[in-house]
Amino acid sequence: MRVLLIGLDCAPPALVFDRFADVMPNLAALRARGLSGPLRSVMPPITVPAWTCMLSGRDPGELGLYGFRNRPRDRGYGLSMASAKDVGVKRVWDRLGEHGHRVASLFVPPSHPPTPLRGSMASCFLTPPGAAWTFPPGRAREWESRFGDYRSDVASFRDGDLARIFDELHAMTEQHFALARHVWTEEKPSFLAMVEMGPDRLHHAAWDHLDPTSPRHVPGNPWLERGRAYYAALDRELGRLLDVASDAVVIVASDHGARACEGAFAVNELLRREGWLATSTTPSSPAPLREVVDWSRTRAWAEGGYYARLFLNVAGREPSGTIPERASEQAAEELRALLLAHGPPGTQVWRPRELYGEVKGVAPDLLAVFGDLAWRSVGTLGHDGVRLTTLPRGVDGANHDWNGVVVMSGGPFVRRDVEASIFDVGRTVLGLFGIEPGTWRGRDWSVS
Ligand SMILES: [Zn+2]
Repeated sequence: MRVLLIGLDCAPPALVFDRFADVMPNLAALRARGLSGPLRSVMPPITVPAWTCMLSGRDPGELGLYGFRNRPRDRGYGLSMASAKDVGVKRVWDRLGEHGHRVASLFVPPSHPPTPLRGSMASCFLTPPGAAWTFPPGRAREWESRFGDYRSDVASFRDGDLARIFDELHAMTEQHFALARHVWTEEKPSFLAMVEMGPDRLHHAAWDHLDPTSPRHVPGNPWLERGRAYYAALDRELGRLLDVASDAVVIVASDHGARACEGAFAVNELLRREGWLATSTTPSSPAPLREVVDWSRTRAWAEGGYYARLFLNVAGREPSGTIPERASEQAAEELRALLLAHGPPGTQVWRPRELYGEVKGVAPDLLAVFGDLAWRSVGTLGHDGVRLTTLPRGVDGANHDWNGVVVMSGGPFVRRDVEASIFDVGRTVLGLFGIEPGTWRGRDWSVS
């Protein structure tokens, strides 16, 4: 048995199963003889936690991974970028390696810095230019001689220079798939997982051009066809990989979907206006939280992103805490009510213990999505209002959405429409190899 997992970061059902399905014949052929459907992501539906959940059978609380950036364990007010060192559990390739299988992990977030496994690893988009990017370390030289300098990501994909961005997208995707074909045929792993970031970068660069339902869409713009052509190229690369992997069980999966961003909710602005957050000056134009906040008079703050993380400034817990520990439960409930009262329709607010089996690391005190993910959270201060329908600088037109996609074809799989969970992917790979799942979350679709 050989299993090939092809991850398409951010690929939504609305594009790959519907609007762009006509330019993706290779994906359609997999669907015609396998199970397929929407793949429900996790809360939060964000790249680093989502891929890790898919491939480790743990939820974000069990992992202590709540986003791209997380608070340090000393509970300082900063955030640090997640890395492979923050994944304290075994992923699918570790489990398979323990059972004697040769494996490969290519570009799977987070895998910078690369870590030992029973085969080869190429690190993910978090790899800085020039950093070590392979395991074994010597693999980099061989791969660079064949495929050129490693393209871990598209540079400055939000800067609007779409001609350059499309060129980089195509070059990155071609390189990644060429490397995957090479590893699959030369190293003959039993299991190869690769993640292509191209769709995510395309969406964040150009979603308004691609999506006629976006409030900023301009009909007839030339970039819609370029976006369709990128998905066509992605499908051609998929076909070329499948050509050398005709014996494989193939799983295609995305970590979350994408949708148009309808507005930005200025969550720290709300906290300031309602007396939860104090600033040393009143900014006249949008300013980053940390440039203006007065921690000694602040009771709560939030981080922006596809969702909002809210933190209480608790005495004895945070460096300049103000809320007594005994009042923190009540404060959290007051904040929840405030967000629900001011958020756009479809706003949801959770305590971490309501979402997760365990709450590890430095978790937010509350997690909120605005407008069922149609609205972004922004953390800057100095806005005219709280609900912003003109997107502030730095916010692009694509929000992440709950549903990615999954296709499982070959081996035991037959044509069938399913609704699956992101946890099912790793669990099914273990099942295909007959490995005991232990406490892994998810459902094994290879037997049901
Ligand atoms: Zn992603």
